[in-house]
Amino acid sequence: MIPYGKQNISEEDIAAVVKVLRSDFITQGPTLPRFERAIATHAGAAHCIAVNSATSALHIGLLALDVGPGDLVWTSPISFVASSNAALYCGADVDFVDIAPDTFNMDMQALASKLKLAKAAGCLPKVVIPVHISGRSCDMKALDMLRKSYGFKVLEDASHAIGANYDGRPVGCCDYSELCVFSFHPVKIITTGEGGALTTNDPLLAKRLAALRSHGITRDANDMERYDGPWYYEQHSLGYNYRMTEIQAALGLSQMARLDLFVQRRRELAERYDRILSNSDFILPVLDNDESRSAWHLYVVRLSEGIKPLTRLHLINKLRSDGIGVNVHYIPIPRQPFYRNLGFDPQQFPVAEGYYESAISLPLYYDMTEDEQDTIVKCLLEPAGFQTIF
Ligand SMILES: *Cc1c(COP(=O)(O)O)cnc(C)c1O
Repeated sequence: MIPYGKQNISEEDIAAVVKVLRSDFITQGPTLPRFERAIATHAGAAHCIAVNSATSALHIGLLALDVGPGDLVWTSPISFVASSNAALYCGADVDFVDIAPDTFNMDMQALASKLKLAKAAGCLPKVVIPVHISGRSCDMKALDMLRKSYGFKVLEDASHAIGANYDGRPVGCCDYSELCVFSFHPVKIITTGEGGALTTNDPLLAKRLAALRSHGITRDANDMERYDGPWYYEQHSLGYNYRMTEIQAALGLSQMARLDLFVQRRRELAERYDRILSNSDFILPVLDNDESRSAWHLYVVRLSEGIKPLTRLHLINKLRSDGIGVNVHYIPIPRQPFYRNLGFDPQQFPVAEGYYESAISLPLYYDMTEDEQDTIVKCLLEPAGFQTIF
C-alpha cells in the first residue's frame, strides 16, 4: 500500500537516538533545549517550548492565554478535532468560522461578519485559532487587522506548516500571533514519534508554558516565594506532565537538519502532481505565490461540482483496492457526534460541507518516488474507475 504520508528516518536519526539512550539523560536533559533552539532559530521566533504532542501544545497554549470557563474560542471546522478539543479541555466554549472555497483555510470575510455580530451580541472570542490547512498559511494580515479591531488573541495551529513561509517569513515567527503550534506526528513534515512545540516572542508566555508542561512547577530561585534549599521547588499553577523525552528531542533535532530538504521535495512532488493532473477534471490545490509558500503536508484534489459524494466513495474504494492509501482531510468537526451533541449543525458551515464531500488527499511524502506518483495518477484517471460508477 502506498500510504498518504510517511516519515523519513535516516541513519543519522538512528545514531542520534542511540546516543541519547547511552547517555545519562533520557528525559529532562540537554538535548531538549537544543531542539527547541533549532526550531526557534528556523522559525525566527524568540522562544520555543517543546511538548509531547501538538494537542498538549494547543491545551497549554490556550491556558497560557488565560482561556477558561466562560471564554469563547473560534477555530476552523476543517481541521483535526484537537484544534477545538483543546478549548473544551480549558472549560471554554467553542465555535467555528467557515472556510474559504479556494484555500480551505478560515475565511477572513466570514470571520469579519461573525465578529461584527458577536460584538453586537456581546460574545466576542478571546482566542481565534487559525489552522494552516495542508501547510499553507492563513491570510494572517487580514486576521491581524481583525485582531486589532476586536482585541482577540491568535494561536496558530501550524501542525501542517513547519517549513512554510508567509509574506517572506517562516510560519512560526509569530509576527501576527501570540503563539504558534507545530506537530511532530510521523505523518507531519518532521517527526519525533509523538511530539509538538509552541513558538512565541513573548517571554512571559514562554515562562508560563515551560511551567504548564511540567505540573506548574518552577525551580528558578528568582521566581520563588521562599527558598528552603537545593531540593526546593514551588508549584504556582496547575500544570501537567506534557514533557518531551530526550529520545524524542534527539530524533527531532536530527530531523530539523533535513527540514528544508523535506519541504523542497514535497513542493517538487506537488508541482509534479500539478503538471500531470493539469488536463484532468479534478480541481487542483492553489499554487504557491510570493505571499505564501506551503509546506505541502497534504495535496488535496477535489471532484468537480455536481459529482455526487457516492462517486467519491467509489473512487476512494477503487484507489484503496489498487493499493493507494488516499484519504480525506478532514471530516468537518461539527459533524462529529460529540460536537452535534453540543448543539452544532454542520449545515451552519456550508463551504466546509461542500469541501468535505469533494476532497481527496493524494499520497505525498519525502520518500515517494516519481514511479509511485505516476501509478497513483494512472489509477486516479483510469476511465474504468469512473465507468463502474455512472
Ligand atoms: C496532527 C494535528 C494536530 C494534533 O497533533 P498531535 O501532535 O497528534 O497531537 C492538531 N491539529 C492539526 C491541524 C493536526 O493536523
